[in-house]
Amino acid sequence: MDKLAIVVPCYNEEEVLKLASEALRGVLADLTEKGKIAGDSFILFVNDGSKDRTWELIEEEHTAYPAQVSGVKLAGNVGHQFALTAGLVTAKDMCDVTISIDADLQDDVAVIEEMIDRFHEGNDIVYGVRRERKTDTFFKRTTAQAFYKLMGLMGVKTVYNHADFRLMSRRAVEEFSKYKETNLFLRGMMPLIGYQTANVYYDRKERAAGESKYPLKKMLALAFNGISSFSVKPISLILGLGLLIIFFSILALIYALFSYFTGHVVPGWTSLILSIWFLGGLQLLAIGLVGQYIGKIYIEVKQRPRYNIEKVLYDAADTDVERS
Ligand code: UDP
Ligand code: MG
Repeated sequence: MDKLAIVVPCYNEEEVLKLASEALRGVLADLTEKGKIAGDSFILFVNDGSKDRTWELIEEEHTAYPAQVSGVKLAGNVGHQFALTAGLVTAKDMCDVTISIDADLQDDVAVIEEMIDRFHEGNDIVYGVRRERKTDTFFKRTTAQAFYKLMGLMGVKTVYNHADFRLMSRRAVEEFSKYKETNLFLRGMMPLIGYQTANVYYDRKERAAGESKYPLKKMLALAFNGISSFSVKPISLILGLGLLIIFFSILALIYALFSYFTGHVVPGWTSLILSIWFLGGLQLLAIGLVGQYIGKIYIEVKQRPRYNIEKVLYDAADTDVERS
């Protein structure tokens, strides 16, 4: 039977913590009864340097339900993505499979069962995908959609409408922990891990209590980080622009020379206009070229794993013969 750890990053969540604990303990009990997970499965709350009573509440829950509720206390506020990573990496040595979920119960805990079913069918990562975004404001909906589109254009693979509600097998977390980069954007990293994945669909609810810990500023930072951590395409765009401008400056050269020889021109205009366009193009080209190298350095510095071997078929009998 597989032991499940539900990882919940919490920042100033005193209003929802008990609710979350109760709901998730309910899910654990239900799934244990149905024989889908081991009886010693547990919830791991990660306190991300909360300024309110969140940690005290986690301690209380742990005292009341020592087997079902555990906690990790981070020394300061490091942000959702880091807190989640800390939780997953801590949990991986204690369980067979993890599920990450927000503390505010916006993600439907009812689909956890379906996630576990997909896991038992052999999927290492199961993405929770929102069916629609009715509960979001018009602004959040449109900006989020624009973000997924932009990510796609920049060549970053992500699962559309999936946030960080996700099941990961132990070996998927193990592989994920080999990604040592500091600019974390988990949603972008998941597809790099490989393995078989599946989606489960749910309707995202309103926050159970408290308010969003992701104000516009943090949201924009996450979006920019998502793109700049995964794509060097913007650099190629500079290079392309440089080439384009040089191309136009050649057209302008032909036009300017034509005007010059037909005499319809103010003295000095030809050389001036040509130098401006040609040099501008050349500069962009040069920046783009330097950028290509910086892009390469950037990729190298990340030291990401280059591959993830899932299986090896190898017949050891041959080597034994040789040895004897
Ligand atoms: N969170 C965190 N550290 C932070 C900000 C948020 O651990 O610095 C947690 C928060 O407690 C919640 C999850 O990340 O469990 C998602 O945050 P929130 O629900 O406020 O974001 P939204 O759903 O509004 O995008
Ligand atoms: Mg939320």
